[in-house]
Amino acid sequence: MSQPILVSACLLGLQTRYDGASKNHPGVQDWLSRHQRIPVPVCPEQLAGLPTPRSRTFFQAGAGHEVLEGSAQVVSEHGDERTAVFLRGARETLKIARLCGCRQALLKERSPSCGVHEVYCGEEKITGLGVAAALLQRSGIEVFSEEDLDAIQT
Ligand code: SF4
Repeated sequence: MSQPILVSACLLGLQTRYDGASKNHPGVQDWLSRHQRIPVPVCPEQLAGLPTPRSRTFFQAGAGHEVLEGSAQVVSEHGDERTAVFLRGARETLKIARLCGCRQALLKERSPSCGVHEVYCGEEKITGLGVAAALLQRSGIEVFSEEDLDAIQT
């Protein structure tokens, strides 16, 4: 039976990115189709109530797991604190995953919400997850990025 999978909305062509664009990824759509997976599109930052377009955001002092533990922050390019709003978006994303029975998530790499292997801490690329990706992972949902398509067990 086809299994639902949570997918970053921007990878599916939705214009949810901070700059109002999408990150349409034909490879992701081809993968979904070949494996007959049902995509459940989510944008944690829109679910948090942030507008589109919106300011770019970065981590300070860590990444998603450290945010969940209270030892790192998310800030906008203008220096505004965004940690609480990113946590809200992560919790709403987890609710959708549970409502739809998603046990896996396919997320946009290097986003402060969705990154799976790398994110930006200031201008520096570091190893770590986005806030929503980290919460999903801690909640037992397998997280992958668009760069891991060959590694996803179907
Ligand atoms: Fe895409 Fe995630 Fe950023 Fe939303 S928060 S635009 S889904 S990478």
